[in-house]
Amino acid sequence: MRARHHIRYILVLILLPSGFLVGCGSTTNLVTGETQRGAYTWQEEVQIGRENDPAIIAQFGLYDDAGLSAYVDRIGQQVLQTSAYTDANTPVEIRSTPFHFRVLDSPVVNAMALPGGYIYVTRGLMAHLDNEAQLAVVLGHEIGHVLARHASRRAASAQLGQLGLIGAAVLGGVVGGGNVAEGILSYGGAGVQLLFLSYGRNDEREADRAGVAYAEFAGYDAAEAADFFGSLARLSQQGGGGGIPSFLSTHPDPGERQQTIPELAAQYNPPGTEVNSGEYLSQIDGIVIGNDPRQGFTEGDRFYHPELRFQFSIPSGWQVNNGAAAVQISEPNGRAVLEFSFAQATSAQAAGQEFGGQQGLSVSSQRSTTVGGNRAYQLEGSANTSDGQVGFLAYFIEYGGNVYRFMGLAGANNFGSYSTTLRRSIESFARLTSSSHINRQPIRLDVVRVSRSGPFSSFVSGRPTPEGMNTEGLAILNQMNLNTTVPSGYSLKLPQQ
Ligand SMILES: [Zn+2]
Repeated sequence: MRARHHIRYILVLILLPSGFLVGCGSTTNLVTGETQRGAYTWQEEVQIGRENDPAIIAQFGLYDDAGLSAYVDRIGQQVLQTSAYTDANTPVEIRSTPFHFRVLDSPVVNAMALPGGYIYVTRGLMAHLDNEAQLAVVLGHEIGHVLARHASRRAASAQLGQLGLIGAAVLGGVVGGGNVAEGILSYGGAGVQLLFLSYGRNDEREADRAGVAYAEFAGYDAAEAADFFGSLARLSQQGGGGGIPSFLSTHPDPGERQQTIPELAAQYNPPGTEVNSGEYLSQIDGIVIGNDPRQGFTEGDRFYHPELRFQFSIPSGWQVNNGAAAVQISEPNGRAVLEFSFAQATSAQAAGQEFGGQQGLSVSSQRSTTVGGNRAYQLEGSANTSDGQVGFLAYFIEYGGNVYRFMGLAGANNFGSYSTTLRRSIESFARLTSSSHINRQPIRLDVVRVSRSGPFSSFVSGRPTPEGMNTEGLAILNQMNLNTTVPSGYSLKLPQQ
C-alpha cells in the first residue's frame, strides 16, 4: 500500500450514468466512420471517464516521476493530433474534449483506456518498450478504443447489464458466505475489467489498425511495435510470475499481432521513419521494475512496510495482494480474508464506533484495547449481505499519526474456525525497527551502453533479479533472447539495486 494514500473504501465502485441499462442510441465510430449502437452520448462517456479516473488512480497509484509523466502526455497528445480526433468531420464536442495520458505505478505490463479520453500505461509497460515508436503505437491503440467508442458499444450489448449491480462498501460488497475472499477481491477488478479490458477481438483489431495509422501519421515507424508484441507473446507464455495482464488475454494473440503490425504499417507511403530509441531510453532510465518494496513487501510469513514503519504476520500459506490502498490477505481457498487499510478518522475509537454504527451490521462486542502498544478499538459481529451472513473482526489502530483498519472476514458458518487465525495476525501488528527492512530499496532499470559484444545472458550475471522475474524475463524486457548476440555499443536495459 502507498504511504500517501488515504481513501475510505478500497473497493472502488465503477459508477455508471443511470441511463446505462436502457439508453441505447446510434453513435459514430470515428475510427471506421461507421454508425454503431452505443449506450452513451459522448458527454456521458466523458462523465464516466472523469468520475472513474480517481478510482483507477486509487487502485493502482500514479507513478511518481513528473518528467516521465510529462513525456508520456507529450507523445500521447502528439499522436492524438494526427488521429481522427482532429478530422474536420469529427463533432466539435469530441474535438474540444481534453485527453489525459497517465503512468500508473504497477509492475504489470498493461495499457488501458476509460471512455471520454482517459488513457493509462503502467510503469511495467514502459520498462518493456524499447523506443518512442512503440509507445506511439500503444497510445494510438488506446486512443483508437476511445474514438471508436468501444466501451459504449460493448455496454449497449446485453451481457454488461449486471455491471450496475456491483457494490462498493466493504461489507456490502461481500458475496455469499462460502467464498468471501473471492467476493471481495474480484470486486475492484470486476468493474475495471468490464469497463476497459473486455473489448472483443474485433475491437482490438480495430484499435490496432488505428494505433498503427496514428503513429505512422505522426511520423513514427509503427512496424517497430512488432518486437514489443513479440515480448508480450513470450510474457503470456511464461504465465504466472509477474501476473499476466488482461491486456494479453483479451487482446488478439500477440503472436498474430507481431505479424499483422508490420503488414499494417507497410500500407503507409511515405512510411514513418522516427524510432527515437535514445530519447525513449533516457526517459525510462531509472524506472522501478518489479514490485516496489517501499510500498510494502512480504518476507517469510511477515508483511513489512518501510515507509509507514509497521509489520505484521501473515497466516501461513495465505496469499497477499498488496494494492495501492490496502493489503488483502486471503485464505488459499478463499474462505476468509484479512484486509489492512487506512481509516479516515482522528482516533481509533471514533473510527470503530462509526464503523459499528453502520446499518446492516450486528455488533456482538466492542471495546478499547491496545495492539503492539498502540491505542486501538476492536469490534466483532456479523453482517447480513444480500448473499448471506458474514462474520467480522475489526480493529482500528492508532499508529504513526494514522488510524488503520485491520479487518478479518469469513462466512458466518466458517467464522468460528478462522477467528483465532485472524485475531493472531491482527494482534501481531507492531512497529518496524530493523534497518534492513526500513532501508529496502526497489530494483531500477539501468540503461547501459555495452562496450563489448556478447550473448545477452553474459550481461545479466551479477545483476539483481526483480521479484517475480527471472533472467528470461530480463531478456523479454529487452525484446531479446538469452543467447541473442548484443553488439558492442548497444544500449541494454539492466536491473540495478
Ligand atoms: Zn486494446
